[in-house]
Amino acid sequence: MVFCCGGAGTDILNQSSKLQDGSSDSIKPDTKRQNDIVHWHNRGVAARPLHLSRGVEKPSGRVTYTVVLEGLCRFSVLELSTRGIYHTAKISSLEMTKIEMEQLEQDPDYIMLSRQFKATATELISVLELKQKTGGRTKVLLDNIPVHKLADIFVASFEISFEEQLSMLDSVGPKLRLSKATELVDRHLQSIRVAEKITQKVEGQLSKSQKEFLLRQQMRAIKEELGDNEDDEDDLVALERKMQSAGMPPNVWKHSHRELRRLKKMQPQQPGYNSSRVYLDLLADLPWQKASEEIELDLRAAQKRLDSDHYGLVKVKQRIIEYLAVRKLKPDARGPVLCFVGPPGVGKTSLASSIAAALGRKFIRISLGGVKDEADIRGHRRTYVGSMPGRLIDGLKRVAVCNPVMLLDEVDKTGSDVRGDPASALLEVLDPEQNKTFNDHYLNVPFDLSKVIFVATANRMQPIPPPLLDRMEVIELPGYTPEEKLQIAMQHLIPRVLDQHGLSSEFIQIPEAMVKLVIQRYTREAGVRNLERNLAALARAAAVRIVEQEQVVPLTKGMQGLSTPLLENRLADGTEVEMDVMPMSVNSRVISNTFRIASPLVVDETMLEKVLGPPRFDDSEAAERVASPGVSVGLVWTAFGGEVQFVEATAMVGKGELHLTGQLGDVIKESAQIALTWVRARTTDLKVDAAKGFNLLEGRDVHIHFPAGAVPKDGPSAGVTLVTSLVSLFTQKSVRSDTAMTGEMTLRGLVLPVGGVKDKILAAHRYGIKRVILPERNLKDLAEVPASVLANLEILLAKRMEDVLEHAFDGGCPWRQHSKL
Ligand code: ADP
Repeated sequence: MVFCCGGAGTDILNQSSKLQDGSSDSIKPDTKRQNDIVHWHNRGVAARPLHLSRGVEKPSGRVTYTVVLEGLCRFSVLELSTRGIYHTAKISSLEMTKIEMEQLEQDPDYIMLSRQFKATATELISVLELKQKTGGRTKVLLDNIPVHKLADIFVASFEISFEEQLSMLDSVGPKLRLSKATELVDRHLQSIRVAEKITQKVEGQLSKSQKEFLLRQQMRAIKEELGDNEDDEDDLVALERKMQSAGMPPNVWKHSHRELRRLKKMQPQQPGYNSSRVYLDLLADLPWQKASEEIELDLRAAQKRLDSDHYGLVKVKQRIIEYLAVRKLKPDARGPVLCFVGPPGVGKTSLASSIAAALGRKFIRISLGGVKDEADIRGHRRTYVGSMPGRLIDGLKRVAVCNPVMLLDEVDKTGSDVRGDPASALLEVLDPEQNKTFNDHYLNVPFDLSKVIFVATANRMQPIPPPLLDRMEVIELPGYTPEEKLQIAMQHLIPRVLDQHGLSSEFIQIPEAMVKLVIQRYTREAGVRNLERNLAALARAAAVRIVEQEQVVPLTKGMQGLSTPLLENRLADGTEVEMDVMPMSVNSRVISNTFRIASPLVVDETMLEKVLGPPRFDDSEAAERVASPGVSVGLVWTAFGGEVQFVEATAMVGKGELHLTGQLGDVIKESAQIALTWVRARTTDLKVDAAKGFNLLEGRDVHIHFPAGAVPKDGPSAGVTLVTSLVSLFTQKSVRSDTAMTGEMTLRGLVLPVGGVKDKILAAHRYGIKRVILPERNLKDLAEVPASVLANLEILLAKRMEDVLEHAFDGGCPWRQHSKL
C-alpha cells in the first residue's frame, strides 16, 4: 500500500496507533482530491496494512474503518497515472544503503546532531516517566534503533500540524531530519514544562486553602476547649434556628435554605459572605407570620381615645370612627387608604397613631419626604454594592409584626427622576390586588403586605400623582383658629410638655392669657408645632430655675435626706460613687417629692420675653407695609397652609418693560402680565397719566416683587392682588391695610374662584386682617370656615375686578371717583 504523504513510521509495533492517526491525516486531503483539485505530494511513505477494524455505525448511517499500518520507507514519486478511479505511481525508495549509512555514521556533524537529539529525547522521556510512569519501553528504543529512524518515531507521536508533518516527510537527509526533530522534541518538552508549572501553582494555592482550613479546625478545637465557642459555625446554627422559627412560606424557606447552604460552604473572609449573612438575617427577622393580636374593637373606647388625644377635629374623628366600624364588620375589607392632608403640626401623625392604638396594633412611620429613587421603596438588587431593602421592608423588620398600622408620611413629597418613579412603586403597595406579593428587589422573594393597614399624610393634595390619589380617601385638616390652638395648648400640649420635662402645675403655671400671647406674638402657623416648641422652651427655663432655686429642700417627712452619712464619708474619702440616673419624664412624681418649692412659678410677659425673645409677629405689620402706595395684601396657599403674601409694585423711567422678582412660576408671571395689560387698557378710566404725570404706555418700566424672595411661588390666585397693587401705584393711593384679597382675574376683568379658601381665611385671621375680598363663586366655601373666625372678619365678594378695587381702597374704586368728577 502506498500513501503519498503521512506520518513517518517504520516497523515499530507500539507506534502503530500513532501511524493510524497519521494516515488518517493523510487520507483527508486524498478524499478531497477525489472530489475537487487533485494535488499530489511528490513524496510518501510505503506502508503495510496490519489490521482492519469496523467502527460502530453512526446514526447517519456512516461507518468508520480503522486501518493499522506499518510504515516501511520513504519514497519519491517518479510518475503518476490514473486507472479508473484509482491512481498508481512509479516510485523509488529513498532509503539509504548500508554503505551510505556507514559513511554517515562517521560524519562528525551527524554524530553531534545525534547526540543532541538523544539528549533532548532522553530528557523528554524522563519528564514523561515522572508524569506517567511509562517510560520503560521508550528508553529501550533509544539504545536499539538508529537515530534518524528514532527521529521519525518521536515526531510521529506529537500533535503537530499537517504542514509540519509534510516537512518532516520531506526531510530525506538524516542530518536535516535530526535537527528538525530535535527542535520539535524540544518544543514539546517546553510545553510540558509550562503546563507543569501552572499545575504546580494551582496545587500550591489549593494546599494553602487546605492549610487554612486545617488551622481553622484547630482554632475551633482550641476555642471549644476554652469554652469560648461563640464562633461562626455556632452563629450559623443560631441563624438557621432563627430562620426555622420565622414562619416563612415554603417557597421563601426553600430559597433561603439554598442561600444558607451556600453560606455554610464559604469562609467568613470570602467576599460575599457578609452580604449573604446580612441578607439571611433579614429574611429570618422579617415578620412573615408574626402578627400583633388584634383586640376586640370597641368603638366607644376608640372614640374616647381619639377625644382624649385630640381636641376638636369633630368631622375627622367621625370619619375615622366610620372607618374603624367598617373594619370591625369586615376585617378584610379592602377599603380605601385614609390620607390626611393638611399643613404641618395639625395632628396628622398623631391621628394615625391613635388609629393604631384603637386597633391595638403596632405603629410605624415611613417618611417619604424627598424620596426620588424608586429603590428607596423597592430596595436595591443584591448585586449592587451597599444594597439594602426598601423603606417598607425595613420598617416591617423594625416593627416585627406583619399587621402594623403603617404611616406613609408626606406622600406628596416624592418626586420622580431618572432613578425611577417612587409613586408607581407606592401604587403597587397600596393596591390590595398586588400587595399580597410585594416584590422588594433586595428581598427577591414576594412579601405579603395585605395585612398592613396603610394611612398616608400629605401637606398638599395637588402634587400627589392622580393614580395614587385615586386609591386614597382624602381627609383634610385645614389648620386651627387661635381659639382652637388655645384649647389644644391648655388641654393637651401644656400637660404633655410639663410631663416631658419632669414638671407639674405645682412648679409652673402658664396662664391662658400668656398662651394667647405666645400664639399671637410668637407663632403664626396653621398647626401647633411651634406653639408646642415655645411651650417646651418655657418649661425648660422653669426647670432650670427650679433646680437652681435656693429654697429647694427635701421636705417629705418620712423621706431620707438626699445625702446619707455613708455617702458623705465616701465623698470625703474621694472614692467614686455610683449614681443612678432617673429619667425625668417617668419620675416626675418622685422628683416632685424630692424638690418642693414655696410657690409655683407663674409665667408672665417678662418671662415670655426673656425666654422666647422679643415678639416675632404683631398685628401692625400689615399696616406698616401697606403704608406706601403700590403695595397690596394677598392670600396664598402653601404647603404650610394659608399665608398672607404682600405684593409690591414700583415704576421707573424705562422702555415700558415689566420686571418680576421673588422666585415666581410661569402661571404667576402670566398673571402679572394680564394685570399690567388690564391696568394699561384702562389708563383713561383711571385718569392717572394726565393727572399725576404718568404715562403708562411709554417711558416707564414696572417692577413687581413678591417678598420672601427665597420662597418659590406660583398659581393664578394672585391676579386681583397684582391689579390692586398696580392701581395703587399708578393712582398713588394706599390700599387699605386691614384688607386682604385672593382671586384669579381674566383679561376682561372677571374674577374667577380659587382653591384653599378656608386655609387662606384662617391665615388672614391669624394676621389680624379684618376684611377679606373673595371671588363671588367662592361663597360656598365659607361653610367650612369656623364661625368664630367668620365672626371676626368682614367677607367681601367680588364678581369683577372693579368690585375688588371698590373694596380695596378707602372711598371705593379710584377711577369711579375720577369719573364722577
Ligand atoms: P403633623 O403630622 O400634622 O405634622 P403631628 O401629628 O406631628 O402633626 O402634631 C404635632 C403635635 O401637635 C403633636 O404633638 C400633636 O399631638 C399635637 N396636636 C396637633 N393637633 C392636635 C389636637 N387637635 N389636639 C391635641 N394635640 C394636637
